[in-house]
Amino acid sequence: MVETIRMDGFDVTIIGAGVIGLAVAEEISRSGRRVLLLEKHDGFGKETSSRNSEVIHAGIYYPPGSMKAAFCREGNRLLYETCQRRGIPHRRLGKMIVANGPAEAEDLSALKRCAEENGVEGIRFLSRVEMKEMEPDVRADEALFSPSTGIIDSHRLMRSFLLEAEANGITSAFRSEVSNVHFDGMRYIVEIAGTGYRVSTSLLINSAGLCSDALAAGIGIDIDRAGYRLKFCKGTYFRAVPSPGLKHLVYPAPTARREGLGIHATLDLAGAARFGPDVEYVKKPDYVVDDSRRDAFHESISRYLPSLPREALFPDMCGIRPKLQGPGEPVRDFVVCEESGSGFPGLINLIGIESPGLTSCIAMARRVSGLVSAAF
Ligand SMILES: Cc1cc2nc3c(=O)[nH]c(=O)nc-3n(C[C@H](O)[C@H](O)[C@H](O)COP(=O)(O)OP(=O)(O)OC[C@H]3O[C@@H](n4cnc5c(N)ncnc54)[C@H](O)[C@@H]3O)c2cc1C
Repeated sequence: MVETIRMDGFDVTIIGAGVIGLAVAEEISRSGRRVLLLEKHDGFGKETSSRNSEVIHAGIYYPPGSMKAAFCREGNRLLYETCQRRGIPHRRLGKMIVANGPAEAEDLSALKRCAEENGVEGIRFLSRVEMKEMEPDVRADEALFSPSTGIIDSHRLMRSFLLEAEANGITSAFRSEVSNVHFDGMRYIVEIAGTGYRVSTSLLINSAGLCSDALAAGIGIDIDRAGYRLKFCKGTYFRAVPSPGLKHLVYPAPTARREGLGIHATLDLAGAARFGPDVEYVKKPDYVVDDSRRDAFHESISRYLPSLPREALFPDMCGIRPKLQGPGEPVRDFVVCEESGSGFPGLINLIGIESPGLTSCIAMARRVSGLVSAAF
């Protein structure tokens, strides 16, 4: 690991060491090309990649045919394989999606059809007896069960990507914020803020998360025309103390607009429950947890976990979704695009990487690696 870089050339430069940039770095590091990874913070995964539910999704919700559906399904399999091989802590807990009332029950049936179209294996309705045996405190008229949903230690995952990539010879530079990128018609010249350093690179991968649209705009992409402008959607979590003895992840039936997956119960690897995230569009990212949301949380959770007292809920943390769609707008897919068509050959933009980005990381990295190989 180095803190400064010389002004010389790389084949591929990756901006952003979140789970996506790191997965891409590892994937490309095997090619023998000179790869540089730039991150503005003093360590990896300090933004969205460490502020999420750490759920390995199965691919239930996403529009069939979308990258979200395909990467999630494939990413789920690849993540479990990688975790097993590398000893990364994870648990295949399974998830219940619960419906209360006829409208939600209808939503569940539609969800099951969508999951089946997406190739999600093993998804099925639970009988009442099974529901009671599996989660006695959960109230539900009906419940879908997804056996391949699980949880993961995302920090250990990211660390393993970085260590592998570095072992394969990439250069990683932290405290290195990209302040400007200039395309000279052949190569990209990347400036690192406050250092006077410049790097020239044949290929540039923009995995800058919440800043990815601004970065693309700075390079010269018309982000409004391309539909790349991000909207920031905050998701807050409350933890429950004492923790209700849940054994599975429990999600409410999703709202029709699918802005989030509903205030659900996730478990960490120690078995403690956390509830969230809710959905709040904000003008700019901030990580302040608003205690006044407790009542709204309690009301939502009470529908499926009526025994949880309001006093058991404590503010926990929040994350910001980099969404391409605004409130009430139809769900948009990930942007994974090589920008020759916009006049920027060798620029690969990864924009709008909201959930299931963590689950999708290895599958997406393979797609990006394919784009890189095609560009050389
Ligand atoms: C509340 C919430 C819950 C979620 N839950 C799940 C879940 O359970 N399962 C799941 O699969 N997905 C989940 N996700 C989605 C997942 O967290 C993201 O898709 C994933 O973390 C995105 O990773 P990333 O690397 O693209 O972005 P980031 O983690 O944001 O990384 C981008 C990096 O780029 C760096 N950067 C930005 N600009 C510059 C610059 N100019 N120069 C250098 N570096 C720069 C940043 O510092 C940052 O480290 C959730 C997201 C949220 C917000």
